[in-house]
Amino acid sequence: MAPDVREAICSCAHFSRSMHTAESPHSLRRPISLPLAFGRAFRSHRSVWHFTHRRDRAMSVIDILTQRNQAFADSSRFSAELKIIPSMKTMIVGCVDPRVDPAEIFQLEPGEAVVYRNVGGRVTPATLETLSMLRIVARSSGGNMGPGWNLLVLHHTDCGINCLRHEPELAQHFGVPLEGLDSLAITDPRTSVAVDIAALRASPLVSGDFLVSGLVYDVATGKVETVVPPAPLRTEATA
Ligand SMILES: [Zn+2]
Repeated sequence: MAPDVREAICSCAHFSRSMHTAESPHSLRRPISLPLAFGRAFRSHRSVWHFTHRRDRAMSVIDILTQRNQAFADSSRFSAELKIIPSMKTMIVGCVDPRVDPAEIFQLEPGEAVVYRNVGGRVTPATLETLSMLRIVARSSGGNMGPGWNLLVLHHTDCGINCLRHEPELAQHFGVPLEGLDSLAITDPRTSVAVDIAALRASPLVSGDFLVSGLVYDVATGKVETVVPPAPLRTEATA
């Protein structure tokens, strides 16, 4: 978060009508003390003070995000010259969990990789269909998902999908009977990446030229472990 935005949120919260409860998305319902509130306010930049209190309201999430977007558009990270084909020739299948954003944990630059996220980062029929569609998009854009492309399956510890391991909706999501969920290693990310890579190998919808890897991210350490080392998806390429 840009420093000016962070400070704007905090100082707004400190001087809201309720002096005991922050009213911003940044610190919702967080009790604050009066001395702390004044201390932070005086450390805030003068322009931030005028910006936040002239409007007499906390910044909304959209306010914050559009400000960040403006900062991005003005920064060197943005380039209008980026290509639709990822510069790393890499696709990542990962979980929607906000702690496990591949762009963050791999420090990706814009345009470097395609990231597909669903619940658990799992290879489901919908995942395979999307991979197939992306292959068509690449071809129509003058590229080809052939040799030199990487496909990473990224699972993680403490995944929310663990709570769904007995749910009929999850079985339907995977296209398996309820009793088939046990074979998908829902609660074991080290095993589930291997299960999903096997599913990729078995699907004719995915290019056999991919160099496929299975990784597990530990939410307690921030580190990624390679559980399934990079290897061609299939020995006989189909791209
Ligand atoms: Zn997850």
